[in-house]
Amino acid sequence: MKNARGMVCVMLLGILVAGGCATQGQKCDRLHPKKKDFAVAVVKLCNANGLGSLKVWVCVTPQPDVYNAWIDMTPVVYMSSGLLNEFADQDVVMPIVAHELSHYALQHIEKRAGASFGVTMLFTVAGVFIPGAGLGNLLVNPLVTNAYGRDQELDADKNAVKMLKNAGVENAVDVYCTALTVIIRKAGSDAKKWDLFAGHPPLEDRIKYVRSTE
Ligand SMILES: [Zn+2]
Repeated sequence: MKNARGMVCVMLLGILVAGGCATQGQKCDRLHPKKKDFAVAVVKLCNANGLGSLKVWVCVTPQPDVYNAWIDMTPVVYMSSGLLNEFADQDVVMPIVAHELSHYALQHIEKRAGASFGVTMLFTVAGVFIPGAGLGNLLVNPLVTNAYGRDQELDADKNAVKMLKNAGVENAVDVYCTALTVIIRKAGSDAKKWDLFAGHPPLEDRIKYVRSTE
């Protein structure tokens, strides 16, 4: 899939940040007006945290009703257009990016992929003895692997604050906790907007944990 869409990659501040070239089927809005702010946040955080030599890609997904961000193993950092439209301020974008980069830096993605492989193997083995048992994997596996564990989320929060500090963000703990609070308040009870927090511990627990590590 790489380069199949003929997408343009840009060199920015010494690190390769691009939209879509490596996104394996995920649609990216390459012309989103706030994409550059998002890319700058990624570059700043990578360069300040020893990830400057990584080829990191950014992708704004065309999802105006959704607040979501995630990272894959490429690594590509994804952010939904809904989230970026609403919170283009670097005080919010930087903490989100720092959290996602932390999942990558702490190797949570590999661990999650490992869990997925283990579950698949279990069902494959079960399928040998119980015809049809392998199908269960399709139902169970996404539930097991869609979210990181609670400890991984808290570790990503803690590491994100460290990344922000390294990138020169003053009062990083406050900035981080404020960003989480602002997004959650804005999402309100609109379920469609809650993807960013699906599988994450409650906000109060996250804030308490981050503050306890100061
Ligand atoms: Zn997370």
